Amino acid sequence: MTGELPNPESNRGLHYEESLLWEKERSERPGVDLPESTGVALRTGLPERGDMGLPQVSEPQALRHFVRMSTWNYSIDHGFFPLGSCTMKHNPRLNEKMARLSGFAHIHPMQPESTVQGALELMYELQDWLGTLTGLPGVCLAPSAGAHGELAGMMTIRRAHDVQGNESRKVVLIPDSAHGTNPATAVMCGFTVRNIPTGPEGRLTVEAFKEALYKGDEQGADIAGMMVTNPNTCGLFESNILEIADLLHEAGGYFYCDGANFNALVGRVRPADFGVDVMHINLHKTFSTPHGGGGPGSGPICCTEELAQYMPVPVVLKGGDAYCLETKEDRETTLGTLKAFQGQFGMFVRALSYIMSHGADGLAQVSGDAVLSANYLMAKLGQEYHVPYEGPCMHECLLTDKKQKEFNVTTLDIAKALIEHGYHPMTVYFPLVLSGTMLIEPTETESKDALDRFVETMTEIAKDAKDKGEEYFHSLPQSSPRKRLDEVKAARNPVLRWKAS
Ligand SMILES: *Cc1c(COP(=O)(O)O)cnc(C)c1O
Repeated sequence: MTGELPNPESNRGLHYEESLLWEKERSERPGVDLPESTGVALRTGLPERGDMGLPQVSEPQALRHFVRMSTWNYSIDHGFFPLGSCTMKHNPRLNEKMARLSGFAHIHPMQPESTVQGALELMYELQDWLGTLTGLPGVCLAPSAGAHGELAGMMTIRRAHDVQGNESRKVVLIPDSAHGTNPATAVMCGFTVRNIPTGPEGRLTVEAFKEALYKGDEQGADIAGMMVTNPNTCGLFESNILEIADLLHEAGGYFYCDGANFNALVGRVRPADFGVDVMHINLHKTFSTPHGGGGPGSGPICCTEELAQYMPVPVVLKGGDAYCLETKEDRETTLGTLKAFQGQFGMFVRALSYIMSHGADGLAQVSGDAVLSANYLMAKLGQEYHVPYEGPCMHECLLTDKKQKEFNVTTLDIAKALIEHGYHPMTVYFPLVLSGTMLIEPTETESKDALDRFVETMTEIAKDAKDKGEEYFHSLPQSSPRKRLDEVKAARNPVLRWKAS
C-alpha cells in the first residue's frame, strides 16, 4: 500500500504512524486542569513566566505517543539483527535477574566498602576471568564503552612511554580496515596515525607492516605502538600477527588490540599469546550485556603485568578476606582516574552471570558456534553475492554488491530491501577497504532455521536484482512508516527543529 495515510492515529498492519506530541494538541483543550491564576506571584522579584510551550495533550495521549515510539526501536528481541562488528546477540534473561537482585541493584558507590564486600568480590572475580581468558593479568573494569576502553588502553601506552622518557615515540600504526574509533583514539592521546594498507587477501602482510614500521626511522624509534583488530573488520584472523607483533616489540612499540569482537576467540585463543600488550573487551558484545538504544556499555581493559602499573585506577584488590577499590595513592605510576567511581556495575553482574553460566567449555562453544554460523552464511550467500576474500572467515562474513551492480542495484538498495522483508540490515559500506561492502554477523545465538530464512530472503533479493531491476529497488522500503529518504537532502539540509506552522 502506498500514499499518505488519512489519519495520523491510524495504523496499518499494526505499524503506527506517529506525529509529534505538539502536533496532537488542540489549543482549545489544555492537557492539565489547573485553577485560574490569581495573578499573585509566590515570590516577588522573579520575572513573569510566559507560555512554556509544553504540548497540551492528555495523559493517555502522551502515554500512547511514547509507547508507540518505543515500538520503533528494532532490537535483538524483535528478530535477527545481523549488524556486522556489533555482535547483536541474545542477552540471557538470567543475567537480568542477577542484576536486579536487590543487594546488587540498590547499592550506592559512596557506601562504605565494608558494606559492599559482595559487590567488590564480584568485580574481583570478573577481573580474574577476563585476565585468564585474555592471558593479560592487569584488568581495569572502569571504562564505560569500547571506545572508552580504547582511550584507557592508549592512555596506558602513552603513560608508559612518558614514564620511560620516550618522548620521541609519537607514531601509532593502524590498518586501513580499522574501526573508526581506533585512529580517533590515537589522535586524542596526542599520537599521529600512520596507515598500514590491507593486503590483497584482506589481511595485514609482513611487507606492508615493515614498510610502515620503518618509514619514519629505520629502527622504528618513532613508533609508540600499533592498534590492530583481530579478527579484523573483514572478519578474518590476522595470520601474520605473531611475526608482526615481534617486529613491533623489537622496535620498542606496544601492541594495542581492539578486542571488541572477542566472541570470535573467547575460550580458544588468548590474545597475550599472539603478542598483545593491552586490549579492551566489550562486555556489551562478547559477554552479552545489552547494548544499543543508549544503554550503558562497558569496555574493561586487560594488559600485561608490565603495563598494569600504568593503567587507570581503580582496580579491585584483595587483602586477606577483604576487598577494596585502590586509589591513586595505592599506585603512584597510574595514569589516574577515567571517571567517577568504578564503572558500570550492573554490566559487571550481567557479564559474570553470563561467564559463570557458560563455564570455560561453554565459552569455547560460543566462539565455535559464532564462527560456524558466519561460515555457513558465507558458503550459502556466496552463491549469489560476491565474496571478496576467500574463507574460512571468523565470526562475520564479508560480501560486496559487485554482482548486483551489474543491474544498478547497490548495497544501499539491498539494505532497504531487507527492511521491506522485515530484517534489520547488515553493516553497510564498512570496512572501507573495498567498495559496496556488506558485513554480516549472525552470532552464535541464531538457530539454523533463522539463518536459512535469512539466506532465502537474501537469495530472493539477489534474484529480484536481476528480474525487477533498479526502479523497483529504489522504491524500497514500501511498507515502513518512512519510505526511501532523500539522504543527500537530509545531510545537506537537515531540519533539526520543529516549528509551529
Ligand atoms: C563496537 C566496536 C568498537 C566500539 O565500541 P563502543 O562500545 O561502541 O564504543 C570498537 N571497535 C570495534 C572493532 C567494534 O566492533
